[in-house]
Amino acid sequence: MKEETSSGKCLCGRVRFKAAGSPLWVSHCHCNSCRRSTGAPVTTFVGYNKDDVTFYGQRTFYASSPGVRRGFCADCGTPLTYESDRCDAEVHFYISVMDLPDKFIPDRHVFYGERLSWLELNDGLPRFSGIDRDEPSSWGPKHSR
Ligand SMILES: [Zn+2]
Ligand SMILES: [Zn+2]
Repeated sequence: MKEETSSGKCLCGRVRFKAAGSPLWVSHCHCNSCRRSTGAPVTTFVGYNKDDVTFYGQRTFYASSPGVRRGFCADCGTPLTYESDRCDAEVHFYISVMDLPDKFIPDRHVFYGERLSWLELNDGLPRFSGIDRDEPSSWGPKHSR
């Protein structure tokens, strides 16, 4: 079976990465912390196993909550990654840094309870209010801002 590899980079290109295989999940996040860190009303993430990811160039990290590390490029400021102690085998990329973001199809919304009320998305995807006990993905119940 052919193994697909995806790539991405920050705006200035100092930090680049490759991710092997298919992502674990693709999800929209409406939480306030993602909104502040990206400047966008909704943030879309692509989750991979850390073991499948190789970085070229150094990220700088910021702890947005205890146990949460958001990686960015110190030269251009582009937000790159989200990592947490609760999902310590995973690295979550902001979809905006993937070279081919259009090929990753989101299948849910998380932290929908923190959404901006004027943002209407009629995609028919399931919405989860936050860390939801009904959340089926490996990410949802473990995600903290
Ligand atoms: Zn950069
Ligand atoms: Zn979030």
